[in-house]
Amino acid sequence: MGRMREDGDTGIVTVRQEIADYIKNNPATAKDISKAVSQQEKDVYFHLEHIAKSYGGTFRVILPECRKCGFVFSKKIGKPSKCPECDSTWITDPEYYLK
Ligand SMILES: [Zn+2]
Repeated sequence: MGRMREDGDTGIVTVRQEIADYIKNNPATAKDISKAVSQQEKDVYFHLEHIAKSYGGTFRVILPECRKCGFVFSKKIGKPSKCPECDSTWITDPEYYLK
């Protein structure tokens, strides 16, 4: 890391490629990815949406789960704030990877 990034489309493609490489067979949370590619967490989610589309079936999500009651969230990208079953905010971070 530490190298300069270009603005514009080329830069975005590069970041996406970096994220794709990083999560290849390596489930990682948005926070892990954010550190690995020096992007803000909210931008990581944005890139993941696109990676999910372009990689189709090889893009996998380990869904977040309520640690209190075991409820599994169905939302694909993004971190839920609260369990709809028990209102707990003790929720695992979703992990993303490419198979
Ligand atoms: Zn719950």
